[in-house]
Amino acid sequence: MNKPIDVAPRNGGAARAASAVLERPADEPAGGGAHFLRTIIAEDNALGRYGGRVVTRFPPEPNGYLHFGHAKSIVLNFGLAAENGGTCHLRFDDTNPLKEDVEFEDAIAGSVRWLGYDWGAHRYHASDYYDVLYDFAEWFIGQGLAYVDSQSADEVRRTRGTLTEPGVPSPWRERDIAENLDLFRRMRAGEFADGTHVLRLKIDMASANVNMRDPVVYRIRHARHHRTGDRWCIYPLYDYTHCISDALERVTHSICTLEFADHRPLYDWIIERLADGGKLARPLPHQYEFARLNLTYAVLSKRKLIQLVEEGHVDGWDDPRMPTLVGARRRGYTPAGFRLFNERIGVSKSESWIDMGVLEDAMRDDLNATAPRRIAVLDPIRLVIDDYPEGRSEMMSAPNHPQQPELGRRDLPFSRELWIERDDFDETPPKGYFRLAPGAEVRLRYAYIVRCTGVDKDAQGNVTTVHCTYDESTRSGSPGADARKVKGNIHWLSADHALHAEVRLYDRLFRVPFPGARERAAAGANAQTKSSSIEGDDADADERERNFLDDLNPESKRTLAAFVEPALAPAAPEARFQFERHGYFVADLLDHREDRPAYNRTVTLRDSWNANPKAKGRNP
Ligand code: ATP
Ligand code: MG
Repeated sequence: MNKPIDVAPRNGGAARAASAVLERPADEPAGGGAHFLRTIIAEDNALGRYGGRVVTRFPPEPNGYLHFGHAKSIVLNFGLAAENGGTCHLRFDDTNPLKEDVEFEDAIAGSVRWLGYDWGAHRYHASDYYDVLYDFAEWFIGQGLAYVDSQSADEVRRTRGTLTEPGVPSPWRERDIAENLDLFRRMRAGEFADGTHVLRLKIDMASANVNMRDPVVYRIRHARHHRTGDRWCIYPLYDYTHCISDALERVTHSICTLEFADHRPLYDWIIERLADGGKLARPLPHQYEFARLNLTYAVLSKRKLIQLVEEGHVDGWDDPRMPTLVGARRRGYTPAGFRLFNERIGVSKSESWIDMGVLEDAMRDDLNATAPRRIAVLDPIRLVIDDYPEGRSEMMSAPNHPQQPELGRRDLPFSRELWIERDDFDETPPKGYFRLAPGAEVRLRYAYIVRCTGVDKDAQGNVTTVHCTYDESTRSGSPGADARKVKGNIHWLSADHALHAEVRLYDRLFRVPFPGARERAAAGANAQTKSSSIEGDDADADERERNFLDDLNPESKRTLAAFVEPALAPAAPEARFQFERHGYFVADLLDHREDRPAYNRTVTLRDSWNANPKAKGRNP
């Protein structure tokens, strides 16, 4: 009997494998909550089922960019491995030569690394196993467990039966082994056209589980593969490839989303037979299913994401509004925020919807702790302090973080002419308005108390300048500065010192929780009723009735000519800040330059969507 095949040692060896043991990222939330996968792994370890090994894998198909749903799977798989001193493999599931590309592979690997994870030496491809998979297929034929079916794809589909009716055996099901082997070899040799034959496992056409009704495992496809070139004209299917890849890599816990639960008997059938035949080593991997991430105000289907990009509804895959990881990075979302989010939503076995607010809150909480504070005036109007000497300026001092004095302070130049926010002044203020109004007093944050004495207007009656006087004895930080209390406290920038900056105010890409859902469904849906009708991406009939593009938020991006404080001059791309009273912002990864600053709003300081009565569908 052949020795069982075990690729993990061949590809790395013990030393390299050991060096790839995952470190828990420093900012990983500690001591995460219990969930069924953590429990299972702890139990397996206690029982010594895998000799204490924990090997997981993240298996993306290199046919697109990763999205927030993938982040859940990445954090889960790499996280579980890290918690247990194990390893997580990055395996490109490249069994479809038509849709895949190395460009996607690089982006995917980059996003996994960006999230803070390291696969060490364990970067694999399903296509690495094509030879082994082929040998195993011949073995199945030799055992009488596989046959070449010469029906068309249509016939195969039609004779598969339904949930209530058994399938109809193919007329080719009883071909003898020698003929099957000969045909399969000729399939591989390129003698046949696409679609003329397939290889099927011979399991049970009457099985209650449709996946067990002689599943197709190889099809002919005369297509060039981005890694194996023209070496193959037959390609293995996912169900056959995936379980064998897991077993070859000595994966212990193979974690996937719920729609694969019905495929688990096939997963086990294939690798059990191969292990019985001495082709695979035991203990074999076990598949576990968890609920995929469904996020409100977003779409996570690859098809829809492609449509958004190709039809130009967004500025590319890495548009900061896209729920992709390359988009998240430009938006200013943080890897630690994703990990925090994943801890908060947990892992479950039943479908549910998570409100976008939960993700935004996780980002807020992470950024609140880490982002230095800065001043930006986004919608400027001029304020002149008439009794402040012309030409004079002085340095005010502002803390970089109110709760973290160790982060120090920075200087903020003050002068006679300032920029303030247009909406911090109101000529006819409503009741309870504590900002600037004729005759009213406010504190200019980190500076003086000023009183509004009048305004200049243009020909149309719009206010162009606000005039004030100031009280020299109220300078922040000076003795007695707080003797006089005022309710309003507004930010400002010295007009002579402020820097121009382009600021992009990003908001949710969709204006409703369930883009494309029927009005009734959208208005009445709560997490519960909605989740019961969801299977996978867009199996919900309600969702097909309207075009999800009709629900795009027309205000998801606003570009402003703003001012920022001089201390931001050296900010590097991807530096993150809180702009006081506005939210969290990031210097754009691609567009930000010292002489042409560009900031993206990551998230506002507070959730304004949740307060909106139209924004229903939030998870309780
Ligand atoms: P496709 O339809 O192309 O298969 P996919 O979203 O499943 O799309 P894959 O590249 O196959 O993309 O996914 C890689 C891994 O990410 C799989 O293990 C899959 O289960 C997981 N994954 C995909 N979407 C989600 C999601 N929304 N939540 C959690 N995990 C997900
Ligand atoms: Mg998939």
